[in-house]
Amino acid sequence: MQKLPLWRTPLARLYDSRKRILVTGGAGFIGSHLIDRLLEQGHEVICADNLFTGSKRNIEHLHGHTRFEFMRHDVTFPLFVEVDEIYNLACPASPIHYQHDPVQTTKTSVHGAINMLGLAKRLKCKVFQASTSEVYGDPSVHPQPEEYWGNVNPIGPRSCYDEGKRCAETLFFDYHRQHGTEIKVARIFNTYGPRMHHADGRVVSNFIVQALRGEPITIYGNGQQTRSFCYVDDLVEGFIRLMDTDSAVAGPINLGNPGEFTIRELAEKTIAMTGSKSELVERPLPVDDPKQRQPDIAKARAQLNWEPSIALEEGLARTIAYFRTVLPELVEA
Ligand code: NAD
Ligand code: UDP
Ligand code: UDP
Repeated sequence: MQKLPLWRTPLARLYDSRKRILVTGGAGFIGSHLIDRLLEQGHEVICADNLFTGSKRNIEHLHGHTRFEFMRHDVTFPLFVEVDEIYNLACPASPIHYQHDPVQTTKTSVHGAINMLGLAKRLKCKVFQASTSEVYGDPSVHPQPEEYWGNVNPIGPRSCYDEGKRCAETLFFDYHRQHGTEIKVARIFNTYGPRMHHADGRVVSNFIVQALRGEPITIYGNGQQTRSFCYVDDLVEGFIRLMDTDSAVAGPINLGNPGEFTIRELAEKTIAMTGSKSELVERPLPVDDPKQRQPDIAKARAQLNWEPSIALEEGLARTIAYFRTVLPELVEA
């Protein structure tokens, strides 16, 4: 039988397959869903989050769970814990949030990556990086395969996020080459679902909240720009499959739903599905807003046997149901 490290609890030793897993950014939208899945699988989870954009509300249902632990921690500082795997998700993800303190955004991506890689190097454990389709910038290749190097403005308002994530990828691959660290880099395309922050300005949550409140639906530009929307449960399945691959698979690997919609189509669908009387209004297009985005997921299909299974209408219905429940609470809070 494999010899387990001494720091494992006596209880954990009874379960060879149980792992202790660190999730940074675990109180955020995607992180909290990932934690739910890992706990369901029987693992122990440490969630490290500074609660900048995440919320205790996203993990309050785990309060008192014997295999769950929350640490208020900023990943730009070193972290010394003993774990078997690391998922590094800590980073504000919506343009409003990451542009609020752009210097901190770059620090979170870059120093956060260095600290999590240093931790993984010491523990000789796998480390997963939540990278992004933003590494492709405003793409001139469509759909985007992993081989495409991107079209990114290095000095614009989105650069703190885009270049921060690109530098994090560089660090991951250099730790891999230089120190043999086992890395798993996922490039995530627009993801949506319950527990999105209601006021972080992302298009799916904005449109649903506006529709439910009967406020105008704000289309930036003419609404002809496109995005591909992946439901969070599908994405989490992709994360876990990628983490479970052998050491030959490092990525980067695109995870997203190839179904591509214009922003105007999304607005119309949201109005129809909520039964809202909201009207559509056009607002100025943000600087450097990508015109189109669609993942090429051939690699994820081949290497992870993964593809999304939840269509936009089904995912939207679940997300609308979530916001119908929480919106009155948020108004009162
Ligand atoms: P989110 O804002 O809901 O979650 C990010 C979490 O990181 C929050 O809980 C926040 O408090 C925490 N955090 C931020 N800075 C931190 C720091 N310095 N130290 C510790 N914790 C910190 O966003 P999300 O949508 O759940 O995104 C999770 C990850 O996935 C991010 O890395 C993001 O870049 C990536 N991603 C998300 C999408 C998407 O569509 N949601 C797309 C591409 C990539
Ligand atoms: N680090 C950490 N936890 C650990 C080991 C390292 O947070 O368990 C941090 C450490 O503080 C350092 C970073 O990770 O700033 C990179 O570590 P590495 O060993 O690669 O580099 P060095 O310590 O030599 O700068
Ligand atoms: N968008 C919009 N109205 C909104 C919020 C966003 O038209 O109220 C547009 C935005 O300009 C972009 C797309 O929707 O073209 C997706 O925006 P989001 O911030 O969700 O993600 P990202 O731009 O990072 O893909």
